[in-house]
Amino acid sequence: MDKIVYYSTNMQSPEVSFRDALLKGQAPDKGLYMPAVIPSLDKSLMGDFAGQEYPDIAYAVLYAFLKDEVPPEKLRELVDDAYDYDVPLEHVTDRKYVMRLDQGPTASFKDFAARMMGRLMNYFLEQESRELYILTATSGDTGSAIANAFYGLDNIKVLILFPEKEVTPRQRKQMTTLGKNVEVIAIDGKFDDCQAMVKKAFGDPDLQDLNLSSANSINIGRLLPQAVYYFYAWAQLAANKDQKATFVIPSGNFGDMMGGMIAWNMGLPVDRMVIAVNENDEFPVFLQSGRYEKIVPSKNCLSSAMNVGHPSNLARLVDLYGGRMDEKGNISQMPDMEAMRRDMTSVSVSDAETKATIAKAWENFRLLLEPHGAVGWAGLEKFVLATPGNHKEKLFVVLETAHPAKFPEQIQEILNFDPELPPALQGLEDQKEHYHTMEHDYESFKTHLLGGEK
Ligand SMILES: *Cc1c(COP(=O)(O)O)cnc(C)c1O
Repeated sequence: MDKIVYYSTNMQSPEVSFRDALLKGQAPDKGLYMPAVIPSLDKSLMGDFAGQEYPDIAYAVLYAFLKDEVPPEKLRELVDDAYDYDVPLEHVTDRKYVMRLDQGPTASFKDFAARMMGRLMNYFLEQESRELYILTATSGDTGSAIANAFYGLDNIKVLILFPEKEVTPRQRKQMTTLGKNVEVIAIDGKFDDCQAMVKKAFGDPDLQDLNLSSANSINIGRLLPQAVYYFYAWAQLAANKDQKATFVIPSGNFGDMMGGMIAWNMGLPVDRMVIAVNENDEFPVFLQSGRYEKIVPSKNCLSSAMNVGHPSNLARLVDLYGGRMDEKGNISQMPDMEAMRRDMTSVSVSDAETKATIAKAWENFRLLLEPHGAVGWAGLEKFVLATPGNHKEKLFVVLETAHPAKFPEQIQEILNFDPELPPALQGLEDQKEHYHTMEHDYESFKTHLLGGEK
């Protein structure tokens, strides 16, 4: 078979290789890259997954996409290095499970995508003896996920700007205790100031030679690794090769959900995808009515990483179902809504329901959830109530996307105890921090980038 190419969902840019899509991030026409072919895995290969470890399955799934661009032994090395932590599947009741994607270095499911993207970028840069300089502004969590994902990679330098007074000490320490190729600057200003400085640097002709990149969340290199954990959960839990699973995915920008859709299109036996969102309900409304209206500004809910009024990966889903949506959310060609409704259900969960779910899940099942996972579990309960049939025998997997210890105030308020920190977040207090401070002044920042000031 020919090498898989990647096209832009806006259809105005040339097709590119995986390497180019990865290093570019967004297509020049502002669309998102999609694989022209989604390779299928054969049944016997998937049957073998049952006894395998996470990196084995990650290798098999990613190899199907990358076999013409990354040598097998290299890919093996990258997945072993990226996935050196547990992926617990917790039994709750009947055949319902929670998959905890919170054991990585920043205790968030974003580690799965970011770590693999970083390693793939580093591999291609190494081939060309090129370096990339990643600039990110953060209000807390994105910065630590990026910093950890790229930490220690030889061909990539990372610079993170954060608003000095707007991040918690724990969030700061997750970024500043790393060192090596990760530089951190506290800005005397707000998050918007940090973001404005970064944006300005990307557009500054004097900085073109620095090879600046943003490693943002719409990168195809983040999407493909998110197909892997669906295969893993199914392999561990399905009673036989033909048994289908229903996945419940707490969603914001829909990267996680697109990973699941790619897995399904590769041949994973899936019954249905249940997309659970918070009060930002533009997608469930669209799925039901066929009318898409962004929510501007997005609503502030407890599951803060899902406060998204226009999911950036929605254009990919629309594309997958034969439609076309541009980066602003305008639909010039409707997707096959009937097919979409056959495959997926989407439910919106309020903050009050999220809190009640955290309380009930603990009371009934000793299941500890944080707000994002609680939106998922509530989504499962709503789906079961609204859908006729016997759901006791069916296999359900709810994704828990962050560790409860990242939300101590909410857990304390609802359950009256403090969740224990996962190993990844322990011991930060005693480690040395490396960072400097700077005023929110673009010229000082630019001088710093050009190496004129230390
Ligand atoms: C980013 C994030 C989500 C949403 O994932 P998407 O891929 O953007 O839909 C859910 N939960 C947590 C904890 C996150 O950080």
